[in-house]
Amino acid sequence: MNAGGDYGGDEPREKCGVVGVSLEDREAARPLYYALYALQHRGQESAGIVTHDGFQQHSHVERGLVGDAFEEGDLASLSGGTGIGHVRYPTAGSLDKSCAQPFSVSFKSGSLGLSHNGNLVNADEVREELAAAGHAFTSDGDTEVIAHDLARNLLEEDLVRAVKHTMNRIHGSYSLAITHDDTVLGVRDPLGNRPLCLGKIDGGYVLASESAAIDTLDGELIRDVRPGELVVLDPDGTGYDTYQLVERESTAHCFFEHVYFARPDSVIDENLVYEVRRSLGRKLWEESGVESDVVMPVPDSGRAFASGYADAAGETTADGEPRAADDGGVEFAEGLMKNRYVGRTFIMPTQDERERAVRLKLNPIRSTVEGKSVTIIDDSIVRGTTSTQLVELVREAGAEEVHLRIGAPPILAPCYFGIDMATREELIAADASTEEIREEVGADSLSYLSIDAVADAVGESRADLCLGCVTGEYPFDVEGEATDRDVDAPVSDPAPADD
Ligand code: AMP
Repeated sequence: MNAGGDYGGDEPREKCGVVGVSLEDREAARPLYYALYALQHRGQESAGIVTHDGFQQHSHVERGLVGDAFEEGDLASLSGGTGIGHVRYPTAGSLDKSCAQPFSVSFKSGSLGLSHNGNLVNADEVREELAAAGHAFTSDGDTEVIAHDLARNLLEEDLVRAVKHTMNRIHGSYSLAITHDDTVLGVRDPLGNRPLCLGKIDGGYVLASESAAIDTLDGELIRDVRPGELVVLDPDGTGYDTYQLVERESTAHCFFEHVYFARPDSVIDENLVYEVRRSLGRKLWEESGVESDVVMPVPDSGRAFASGYADAAGETTADGEPRAADDGGVEFAEGLMKNRYVGRTFIMPTQDERERAVRLKLNPIRSTVEGKSVTIIDDSIVRGTTSTQLVELVREAGAEEVHLRIGAPPILAPCYFGIDMATREELIAADASTEEIREEVGADSLSYLSIDAVADAVGESRADLCLGCVTGEYPFDVEGEATDRDVDAPVSDPAPADD
């Protein structure tokens, strides 16, 4: 189903979108607002903008969707040609406004605004150290920890060194858009876990979680921000400088951005997400294609997968033989209608309510499925709620056989770095085999895609991807969890000022 909305927990979840712009002779607020609209799928709990007019910082952060969070007057009061924005993922219960972003703070050497996508694993440690040094915190979010650490460093050194020292101190995933007075910065963690890209727009430059936001501003994608890189936009919108502040041998790009989270029209780490998904669908057919009368996607997340799968099925049979010209192949059809107005099902915290939510969201088209063998394609199974409900619905609508093909490997472990993926206890694949899951969801057959196929489709080696949710081994140190590499955890003291 669509990004956003299905999951919620009590802890803050940093599944978010960030943006920053620096403009020559235009106000930043409106482009930021449009960019946030383009990133709405990355977070629906709250939206916010911080701008700077050369003298003063302005901020507006409000609960709700972008369209509800800002009124005309709010945008008018956000004056200045530079600024950042943020959309935040929903959490259960009431919004703790102190956790909404951008986080803004004024301190001795100016003002800071911070938009963060990702999750630090050593935030508590850094918070304690800063608190002991006299910093007062207003939230328990890790964004404020980054802001205070940066503010402390900025008292003693220039911007680039200050950012470098903060990067040496914090551990975890982060893509940041920052304002330091009227200078906008973009920073991506040394493993490039969450996406961040740089673009040119009329009269200035933009940093955004996804390139679709740059398209929305009629701009052009320049490139991804590199892992460990700092990009500093000139306050007058005329250019930018870049600094490779931390270098690592490998990356840990999140494969799930490609599978589910990002918009299909975004380019992430040089790959158009739509094409990656189509390629995942093709591989799914090659690895575990099953002949059936109809192939249909779970809208919207399964669409690109299903179209790639059906294309490949038109070329070869499930046994890998070239398909004969008189063999009709597999029909690709829309067999499920989605109610586009059901989004925020996170306000349905119980399993019973989640099941109802699937029925509210999706309804079978009887003529597509009645009397047929049907293959349903989705990007992922998390709790198994969607699949179980869909198999039942499609059978009730008259399908004779229901096969499930999933464009990702089984999700067996939680994500700690920015995708809200439910707890281990809730994950259906955490301790069940594919056959057990098939039985539980009630399908005639079930296959997932292999990890190697995912790496192949994304065009990266396994060692350069974060596969934590499908292997249970993570690229950062998480208490109680295994790692998949020699982790470069930060030194416990801030780095010396001259390195
Ligand atoms: P579930 O019903 O829990 O098995 O969730 C699977 C469905 O949720 C699939 O249709 C996915 O497209 C979608 N999905 C996958 N990951 C997430 C996520 N992190 N947040 C919300 N929905 C998701």
